[in-house]
Amino acid sequence: MSKQRFKAILESQKRPIIEVKEEGRRSDFFAKNVFNEDKMIQYLTKDALNSVKGAVFSGSKIDRKIADQVAEAMKAWAISIGATHYTHWFQPLTGATAEKHDAFFDLLPDGKALEKFGGGQLVQQEPDASSFPSGGIRNTFEARGYTAWDPTSPAFVYDTTLCIPTIFVSYTGEALDNKAPLLRALNSIDEAATAVARYFDKNVSKVNATLGWEQEYFLIDKALAHSRPDINMTGRTLIGNAAAKGQQLDDHYFGVIPQRAIGFMKDLEKECTLLGIPVKTRHNEVAPNQFELAPVYEEANLAVDHNLLLMDVMEKVADKHHFKVLFHEKPFAGINGSGKHNNWSLATDTGVNLLSPGSTPMKNLQFLTFFINTIKAVDTYEELLRSSIASASNDHRLGANEAPPAILSIFIGEQLGNVLDELEGVSQGKLSPEEKTELKLNVVGKIPEILLDNTDRNRTSPFAFTGNKFEMRGVGAKTNCAKPMTVLNTIVSKQLRAFKKEVDALIDTKNLKKDEAVFNVLREYIKTSKRIRFDGDGYSDAWQKEAKRRKLSNNKNCPQALRVLTASKTIALFKATKVMSETEIRARQEVELEAYILHVQIESRLFGELVYGYVLPATITYQNKLIKNVTGLKDIFGAAHRPLAGGQLSLIEQMAEHIATLKKMIDAMGDARKKANKISDTHKKAVSYCENVLPYFHTIRQHCDSLEKLVDDSVWPLTKYRELLFIK
Ligand code: ADP
Ligand code: MG
Repeated sequence: MSKQRFKAILESQKRPIIEVKEEGRRSDFFAKNVFNEDKMIQYLTKDALNSVKGAVFSGSKIDRKIADQVAEAMKAWAISIGATHYTHWFQPLTGATAEKHDAFFDLLPDGKALEKFGGGQLVQQEPDASSFPSGGIRNTFEARGYTAWDPTSPAFVYDTTLCIPTIFVSYTGEALDNKAPLLRALNSIDEAATAVARYFDKNVSKVNATLGWEQEYFLIDKALAHSRPDINMTGRTLIGNAAAKGQQLDDHYFGVIPQRAIGFMKDLEKECTLLGIPVKTRHNEVAPNQFELAPVYEEANLAVDHNLLLMDVMEKVADKHHFKVLFHEKPFAGINGSGKHNNWSLATDTGVNLLSPGSTPMKNLQFLTFFINTIKAVDTYEELLRSSIASASNDHRLGANEAPPAILSIFIGEQLGNVLDELEGVSQGKLSPEEKTELKLNVVGKIPEILLDNTDRNRTSPFAFTGNKFEMRGVGAKTNCAKPMTVLNTIVSKQLRAFKKEVDALIDTKNLKKDEAVFNVLREYIKTSKRIRFDGDGYSDAWQKEAKRRKLSNNKNCPQALRVLTASKTIALFKATKVMSETEIRARQEVELEAYILHVQIESRLFGELVYGYVLPATITYQNKLIKNVTGLKDIFGAAHRPLAGGQLSLIEQMAEHIATLKKMIDAMGDARKKANKISDTHKKAVSYCENVLPYFHTIRQHCDSLEKLVDDSVWPLTKYRELLFIK
């Protein structure tokens, strides 16, 4: 065993359990470190408070004087709980969050020291942004990117830094981040959904998209994780023979959480509670060392920020508990990977969940309106929605029989399927009084208020209706939820606008009553969006064939999935909803493709390092030992040694074959990389990496894993699966 592997195992076995005391009732310290409404009431004048609330509710501008007041109040509050620095906290297109800390501390010209933070610093900053990906929007030499305050997500203090959520835009106003388009999409759906909700209730003046994510992750002992260059560099194991025991006994799922993990979770939940992240459930997942955390759902922008913040906080808390958190979608072969379900719905400012069936026919008609429009939107833009969850790492998980396939479809369950079938039979145009009564009482009225039990049976569906929300299940564990949420809210917004136009036209020109017009349009949508509905087994081969017949897209890899971003239909969609300009969308595609190329390139290089630096030397060491043994036998037995050394000779031969193949493959993969690197068109280059470089990974891995099985454990240098997994 290499010294490094031995030391890591020893260290991991000696970990003390870190006891964490639960601090009484969580509601007592919830959001203590957040500059939320409670603190604003305490620290702001009425005018300033109303101005911030106006900005949150309707996006109204906050003038500079008020911003100064808010900054002053934020500073006073932050310092009172120990903050010394502030930062604009933003989401560059790398997918992670970024921050640059500045001290409140400042010096006046006369040398007097003071703590300074004004409206100017609150509202806008110019980080040296030249190293963030921009897809060509911002010339690097200009380096001009601005962060601007997002008052809809409250500032918070983490450790000793006041963090101010911001958007990140170029000098010319184009989004360089994931938050700016999300805010525009949320604004767009607010407008569109409010207009439609007012058909049913004139009191509605705002609709918020809601998001409840469920974060899956792995915990690995820090020393063990660090002993593996692949985990360190790529967040996953590139090679590694499966442990004899994996998840086949199903003994981890919902099992007793290991003591060390409980300590980490308690600490994490304490931090989250202070930061206002409403964490609610924790449990073991399917694979050994895999866990899940889910909060109560929130307004989508806040929920996205909270998920990103959670991922940051998890890494820090894990470190304290001598763990490394893996968010990679497929850290270990042979056992389940990690996803992040996105539960989504729409909520009015009158307290109604628009995707929740109600107790009256009118409420149910409202439910059906939003339900069917969502189905129609997903049907029209299924390929775009698929693209929003595309990444190099998620390619390992989608369609691998543990996560939904790359084909988008919607599961609604038998009961609602029947309701839609009946609605489809409604006659066109005006309805007779009998027809209306029949519809209202026997079709719409029959939708039970609580569908929850009936609808959540199909875990293979990528987009399932679960009683009062839709659940998007293909989202990767690492993915910034802002991406799928931007697309989902944009497409539903576009759809609701079209719906409103059609309904209004029927009312105006055909003289239909409102509910008749609504029924008429919904009936057409049910007919035209049928192909997206699928209640069967999404993992089956039959579905792959059936989906093809239905002309649903099936983009199995990231470069393929990203193509649709620059289709004219996509550009028109983002333009019409004012979510992204053509420049912004093209830049995004460029950045995503670039990220794909870099990920595959890094992994490919690392394969070379692992094979030449670890696998081959260990194999040769053992092979030499065997050769020595065979030579020894020959010395003793002479020509009679052959039958005695049969096993050894065959092992020597097998190893020689693996060594030769590995050498050939690594060299050929290097050549494929060189060829791909010469391609200047980003999309073609990504395709080349996908089709000509990536396919080597699987075969190289197979040879390495076979060698791991053959070679003497005591010389194998890389920490094995059975040591990495199964924390106590
Ligand atoms: P699971 O998918 O593991 O069976 P549940 O169905 O209980 O879990 O719920 C999952 C998530 O749904 C929770 O994180 C919750 O916050 C979220 N959720 C519940 N209602 C809504 C809603 N109206 N909008 C968005 N998310 C919601
Ligand atoms: Mg779920």
